[in-house]
Amino acid sequence: MATWEEARCCPKCSNAGREDGRVPTAKRGVTAVKLTCENPLCRWFETPWFVQINPDGSIPDPDTFSKGPKQFVIPRSDAEAEAMIKAANFAGEQAFNTTHGEIRGR
Ligand SMILES: [Zn+2]
Repeated sequence: MATWEEARCCPKCSNAGREDGRVPTAKRGVTAVKLTCENPLCRWFETPWFVQINPDGSIPDPDTFSKGPKQFVIPRSDAEAEAMIKAANFAGEQAFNTTHGEIRGR
C-alpha cells in the first residue's frame, strides 16, 4: 500500500500536488482523487492525475502496476487528458458541486 503522502506527489517531479476534488469511480466505494501539479518547472504543471482510494481508505501501491489496479491513471495525450478532466468535472458537479475553470486551456 502507498501512503497518501506518497500518492499525492506528482509522478513527474515528486512535488505534492494540489487536490482538486474527489470523484466516484465505477467501482462502488472507490474514489478517484484528482490532483494537479503546482510546480511551474514541471512538465506536468497544471496537469491533473488521479489517485485511487479504496473503500477502506487504502491506496494501491504503485509497485502493483502489473498485477493490481493502477494507482495512477495517466493521460497519454492532451485529448485524453481533456476527456478525463471533462469526465471528472461532470462527476464532480454531480457529487461535489465543484466548479469548472480550474484547468487552464492549452
Ligand atoms: Zn510535477
